[in-house]
Amino acid sequence: MILLRCRTCRREIPSDQCVDLECRSCRVLTAVELDRREYRRLWAKRERLRRHGAALAPVEAQLTRCVVRMQRRGLRGEELNRILATDREMVSREVR
Ligand SMILES: [Zn+2]
Repeated sequence: MILLRCRTCRREIPSDQCVDLECRSCRVLTAVELDRREYRRLWAKRERLRRHGAALAPVEAQLTRCVVRMQRRGLRGEELNRILATDREMVSREVR
């Protein structure tokens, strides 16, 4: 087994898990970049609506569709939860 160094995170990865010198988790993070931007935009909208006491169901349906897209791109489980928590945290820091 040959070890290669991921060009993005610099970790050593078995060559069979590398594509274009990038490990699986870095490829997934690249693939979900636009979805994460959309998730943050929608979460900020949800926060605005919540503060005004407006209905949240429509924006929550949009958020769910956005998360499903990320899952389809391979972001799942603990890693998905960690990314979503990071993005919500980012939005709440901007809002304050
Ligand atoms: Zn990597």
